[in-house]
Amino acid sequence: MVRRLVILIIFLAPFLSWRFGRPQPQLTMFDVGQGLSVLVEDETGWQLLFDGGPDNSVLAQLGTTLAPTDDYIDVVVISHQHRDHYVGLIEVLRRYRVGELWLTRADSKDPAWQELLAVAKQKQIPLLEIKEGMLRYLASGRVIRGYHPPANPRGDEAHDYAVVLTVEHLTTEDSPLGPSKFKTDLVLTGDAEARHEQYIGHCQISRVLPCPTTGAILQAGHHGSKTSTSEPWLKLLQPNVVLISAGQDNSYGHPHQEVLERLERLKINYRRTDLNGTIKIPL
Ligand SMILES: [Zn+2]
Repeated sequence: MVRRLVILIIFLAPFLSWRFGRPQPQLTMFDVGQGLSVLVEDETGWQLLFDGGPDNSVLAQLGTTLAPTDDYIDVVVISHQHRDHYVGLIEVLRRYRVGELWLTRADSKDPAWQELLAVAKQKQIPLLEIKEGMLRYLASGRVIRGYHPPANPRGDEAHDYAVVLTVEHLTTEDSPLGPSKFKTDLVLTGDAEARHEQYIGHCQISRVLPCPTTGAILQAGHHGSKTSTSEPWLKLLQPNVVLISAGQDNSYGHPHQEVLERLERLKINYRRTDLNGTIKIPL
């Protein structure tokens, strides 16, 4: 009897600790090869999945990160309509219950994109358009803030519609950057490029949209491409650490040496999924 009980407890332990343990606020940048997928979890267990990588490898990653009983993701964000960011989400939408799907445009004719929209429709997942200035207050006291795209993007390429959003928390510290009472924890940029970073830099003269505060975790735009993670952007954000999602020995040469040298010159730590695998950092 005792032996049976011990075996039962051993079997149930992981479920029990997940169920009754306090959720840990953390960021997980999954190693999905050449693509992007980031999971954000706050202290109440609220979850946001930012992109899903190029294939179903994200499913195994989610399976080992989420509790076995967890079949619900509060928000799934599609940063833009490129396959290395959304194809993995098709099966995620099929297999998980998803509270909301955030995106910026939905006009791609790609069959994979059409399949994703069909699954979202079939599962009746509400779609929400994310833009500059959008705010979502969470029960944990954290805030999600949209910085990009603007209401009228200047170009018509997929990257011109890239989602840039921050995760912030309320602080009583005075911010040198203005009246914001929020401290930025994380800046997610998808494939945003230098021209989009420059656009967001207008926060320095905006009375409406405060700049992200310094010392956050920054996702390097476009897998560490030299057309992103510009010097003015790094000087504005002064991130604590930069995370780069790129596939091992990818054909694009991501991350570019130029970006790595820029980070080293500015003495900013960075981590890379192609070398470090999946990256977990407390939020
Ligand atoms: Zn990409």
